[in-house]
Amino acid sequence: LTEPVNPSIPSRCDVLIIGSGAAGLYAALCLPSHYQICLVTKDELKTGASDWAQGGIAAAVNPTDSAQLHLQDTLKAGAGLCDPKAVEFLVTHAAEAIQSLVDLGVSFDRKGEELAMTLEAAHSRPRVLHAADRTGRAIVSTLTAKVLEKPNIAILSQSIALKLWLHPHTKRCQGASLLHGHQIRWIRAGAVILATGGGGQVFAQTTNPSVSTGDGVALAWRAGAILRDLEFFQFHPTALTQPDAPRFLISEAVRGEGAHLVDEQGDRFVFQYHPDGELAPRDVVSRAIFTHLQRTALDPSHAHVYLDLRMIDPERIQYRFPNIIRLCQKWGIDVFEDLIPVAPAAHYWMGGIATGLDNQTSINGLYAIGETASTGIHGANRLASNSLLECVVFAGQLAHLIIENDSHEGIPVSQEIHLGDWELEKQQIDLVREQLPVLMWQNAGICRSHAPLEMALRQVEEWRKQLYEFKISHTILNSSPEQKIIFQSSLVWIELRTCLETLNLLDIAYLILKSALFRTESRGGHYRLDYPESANSWQVHTLIQDEQWMTSKLYT
Ligand SMILES: Cc1cc2nc3c(=O)[nH]c(=O)nc-3n(C[C@H](O)[C@H](O)[C@H](O)COP(=O)(O)OP(=O)(O)OC[C@H]3O[C@@H](n4cnc5c(N)ncnc54)[C@H](O)[C@@H]3O)c2cc1C
Repeated sequence: LTEPVNPSIPSRCDVLIIGSGAAGLYAALCLPSHYQICLVTKDELKTGASDWAQGGIAAAVNPTDSAQLHLQDTLKAGAGLCDPKAVEFLVTHAAEAIQSLVDLGVSFDRKGEELAMTLEAAHSRPRVLHAADRTGRAIVSTLTAKVLEKPNIAILSQSIALKLWLHPHTKRCQGASLLHGHQIRWIRAGAVILATGGGGQVFAQTTNPSVSTGDGVALAWRAGAILRDLEFFQFHPTALTQPDAPRFLISEAVRGEGAHLVDEQGDRFVFQYHPDGELAPRDVVSRAIFTHLQRTALDPSHAHVYLDLRMIDPERIQYRFPNIIRLCQKWGIDVFEDLIPVAPAAHYWMGGIATGLDNQTSINGLYAIGETASTGIHGANRLASNSLLECVVFAGQLAHLIIENDSHEGIPVSQEIHLGDWELEKQQIDLVREQLPVLMWQNAGICRSHAPLEMALRQVEEWRKQLYEFKISHTILNSSPEQKIIFQSSLVWIELRTCLETLNLLDIAYLILKSALFRTESRGGHYRLDYPESANSWQVHTLIQDEQWMTSKLYT
């Protein structure tokens, strides 16, 4: 079975899922099969971070391990901001989630009959299941094949969710608008599930794919949902830094298997910063690299350190990292002989749309799962390989979803929109799309402080003001369900997509900057040079709704 090309767009469905990563695909499979489901995705079904996940999926399924130990490791990594109830929920449902993936056909590596496990940073036991270094692909391809078999799931590829549709009086979420081809269409739904993934594209250096533009968070914020802890971004310490190569992730599992991180002099410098050396938590290793390069390199922003795999048994490298070997080879690096040049890059967004254990957001009828949600699992810093597990465990809860139906049908009036000559607007959008991630990387990246954050915020506010005034932005964000908008055919779909993504990136940049300024301490993935310590008074969540920034006590 293959993805349908140009399917017709239904005007309604029972459940509208936006995003087809591990979270969206698994949700589609778990929802009660009598629901008509519409699965909308920006690109192809498989495109997303899930497909790129290498290291694996954490679960305490080994007899020498326990859910309790997994819980402790997760809480420790989360630096005081995890929701213990959510973490307990995650770790106690882990074995069941893995069994379900195995039953669906995901072929994890095995040692004899048993599932094979590896150790990753900050895990106290080897508990990371893998399928070589393509664990995400193994999961996504299996889930995709199952989704394509289901007659109750309609797939809309190359469709971008633009705006959530709230009932004017009850404020219940009753659907969303989509950009599909040259049209804006509205789909009414009993429930809407945001599964749009992360927002790494807001930073110039990122391991995330191009679709990770924080759309879910931006849409939910504009609709008035409560967001949580957006200042917490995890920077992965080891992304490939070969000239012209994308920032390909060199998995943490490589260090788990014994690789060393060395500087130009060949020193294992991380031990100068943390007693656990290479196996210290990600934020510690990222900051150690950043600080070390600031101290020792002539041009720190273009410098790198190295991963040395030469002490690992070559057969083990061959077995565990075929994809890393292949990709490094493509960029002229022989991992058996050469050192791999690496530096940190934005990797995972701990913050997101605040949700409960049932994935419900603060807006009735609106749910969020996967990286776009803030379930409370990751606190201020995610434990490696917990995110794929979170996608599966939480999306699985949607098996219990009960939706409210309403039979009202609007009658859309077709309206052709002519944008006229928008060359200048397009140029400005492209400029912002290029410059914003650089601004964010330089001023809101691994090490932050008040003045650079303020400066970046002022620039972002100016860009937001400019771009929101464009006619194209008005049309994309403010069309109403009574209208059926058709853009002139000379407009290229990708230009419309770039416009929407740039608006979303500007909104999430604004939210991250304001949240980073708000939290005057350092914790987990948020490090302030001007407030380098954690403060007890800040052991609270940052909540955002509209233009209000608040703190909230942790769950008990
Ligand atoms: C390189 C890399 C390696 C990683 N390795 C691991 C690992 O080993 N273990 C682990 O646990 N985690 C890992 N992670 C993190 C993990 O992969 C992600 O957190 C997780 O896959 C997120 O899944 P998701 O379903 O929420 O989002 P994604 O898989 O990113 O899917 C998001 C989907 O939403 C769609 N979308 C976005 N916006 C819109 C819109 N407006 N309209 C329609 N569709 C939209 C996208 O096209 C995509 O289909 C890794 C991440 C990266 C980038």
